[in-house]
Amino acid sequence: MTPRTPSAAEATAAEFAAKAAAARRAAETWRRTTVAQRVKTLRAVWKSLAARRAEVRAVVHEETGKPLVEIDLMELGAAGLLVDWMTAAAPRVLGDKAAGKPWSLFNKRAYERRVPRGVVGLITPWNMPFLIPFGDAFAAMLAGNAVLLKPSEWTTKTALWLEGAVAGTSLLPAGLLSVVTGGGAAGEAVIDATDMVVFTGSTKTGRAVAVRAAGQLKPAVLELGGKHPMIVLADAALDRAAAAAVWAACANAGQVCVGVERVFVEAEAYDRFVEKVRPRMAALRQKLDGRDCDLGRLVFPPLLDRIQEQLEDARKKGARVIGGEVLDRDNLLMSPALVLDARMDMRVMTEECFGPVLPVMKISRAEEAVALANAGSEGLAASVWTTDLAKGERLAAALEVGLVGVNEPSSHYAFGALPFGGMKQSGMGRRHGEEGLLAFTQAQSVVVHEWPDATPDMWWFPYDERKAGFLRKLMGLP
Ligand code: NAD
Repeated sequence: MTPRTPSAAEATAAEFAAKAAAARRAAETWRRTTVAQRVKTLRAVWKSLAARRAEVRAVVHEETGKPLVEIDLMELGAAGLLVDWMTAAAPRVLGDKAAGKPWSLFNKRAYERRVPRGVVGLITPWNMPFLIPFGDAFAAMLAGNAVLLKPSEWTTKTALWLEGAVAGTSLLPAGLLSVVTGGGAAGEAVIDATDMVVFTGSTKTGRAVAVRAAGQLKPAVLELGGKHPMIVLADAALDRAAAAAVWAACANAGQVCVGVERVFVEAEAYDRFVEKVRPRMAALRQKLDGRDCDLGRLVFPPLLDRIQEQLEDARKKGARVIGGEVLDRDNLLMSPALVLDARMDMRVMTEECFGPVLPVMKISRAEEAVALANAGSEGLAASVWTTDLAKGERLAAALEVGLVGVNEPSSHYAFGALPFGGMKQSGMGRRHGEEGLLAFTQAQSVVVHEWPDATPDMWWFPYDERKAGFLRKLMGLP
């Protein structure tokens, strides 16, 4: 039976304090390791976790009902790709960097060191219960930090499994990855107890997190909701586009922040596109046991009614809704919904719809869709579909989103080298890429005076016009 209540109790104040203290102690030891040592150790940690794939699959499936194949590919396969890039890039990105210098300061050496922040707080959602906590924790630890993780109250078991499995390797200082359980109050306590917070979740909660962190002058990276517009031009390869639309709207039962949320199709191709999408939606296999199927159930109980309301709103305003029935209320199972003849005044076109729902709207030209998409407050992901790649890339550049694809729906997370995150109300800061790794550190700029040992610099006291004339020349002043 699908869980209807959160999977763990709120940590008591004493439990929370013990976890926070353990993370703090571990951070002190860990920050003294070299990048090379951390790369070697964390690779070994990942190897040990990956060897326990069957256990991760079981716990993620129990908490989310995802298809087992999807857990392998999206939660674990993507994690492995991130580990590969991060561990290969870390020595270059996190190592000391010699700084350029004005030639007049030729007798000094300058470089930038990256210093870990200390304890990083992670507050994570339920839709990717292994990948998101693991990937961010891995990056934070690689950069020399300890982690205090507050997973979604709906997917606590997966996070506790991760904590136990990491501790079980005995490769890291005890408490380097510490998990605290609970809901909003525990999330707030994590912000208060750590030096930086990475929050992944809804825009509404993200705003509260940003305000709390700002009050304490703590950096916050926010990864929030999206409303992926997929823009299909008349010349697109429609078979690939239709397959992509169905996959990217219904993968993870539609509970993906970068998933396709609405399709805008140029009028000339609209009927052909719909004819290619319909059988693909109808062919989706849906089961609760995760085997031989394409999608399972919803995770968060209130979603079922919220999505039904969004579909009802579309029906009332004249859309043709195919599917979308509640199949099993107790188990949060609804069939995928295709919403044809969608319009911008329908909630499914403007509100995030975290379920297997694919609204399709006819537009006259792609530029119209770009303008409609940019008029919204979200800026996470978007895609453009056309056989004219130059035009596709031009339209992509005009979209106000952090992640954009041309004939590509949503593979960005798997490219560890690419910064991942949103513009506008979809987020602040980025995970992944050099920017994402560097965010877990602060710069310490170092200047070393090398020679001569005993002489004061010429620009120190006492000021005198004769020396100043020489210095003005050195500094390029007339
Ligand atoms: P949510 O905002 O309800 O909860 C996210 C986390 O915040 C949970 O751990 C929750 O317990 C915690 N929390 C709640 N109130 C808090 C508070 N006041 N202070 C601190 N923490 C608090 O989101 P959700 O329903 O778990 O996740 C779904 C949302 O996440 C969707 O909007 C989705 O688009 C978004 N998401 C974004 C990304 C991304 O990378 N941009 C990835 C996955 C999911």
